[in-house]
Amino acid sequence: MKLKFFSFIPHAHKWHNIRISRKGAISPTGRAYFSTHVEAQCKGCGERLHKIYYRDISDAQAIRWLG
Ligand SMILES: [Zn+2]
Repeated sequence: MKLKFFSFIPHAHKWHNIRISRKGAISPTGRAYFSTHVEAQCKGCGERLHKIYYRDISDAQAIRWLG
């Protein structure tokens, strides 16, 4: 299985199926803030990524930060 074998080789993940969602939240101190959830899947090895940034970032920035 090519896909499985490839996952053992160090590689730069190629993220696709990128989903970006934003949620408002209230911190324990009562301050409101935004969190940006970024979900993606690697084309090469199928690894899933779920990152949460505790600020409101643009889609372009989120995609850039995936590496
Ligand atoms: Zn990968």
